[in-house]
Amino acid sequence: MSKTVSPELLNILACPKCKGEVKLTEDEHGLICEKCGLLYEIKEGIPVMLIDEAKPYPVKRNK
Ligand SMILES: [Zn+2]
Repeated sequence: MSKTVSPELLNILACPKCKGEVKLTEDEHGLICEKCGLLYEIKEGIPVMLIDEAKPYPVKRNK
């Protein structure tokens, strides 16, 4: 059993702030909204999609 978020779930998830799409971090421990620069943690395989719980995420543009 994987604790990571399935692509299907990822598709229906949206940033609660801007309603934009979120994507998995490289370590798959969180979801980031690049527009808002916020990181939503994934706890026990469940993404915490709450603005109050989100952490600032420094967006790196290295691609
Ligand atoms: Zn957003």
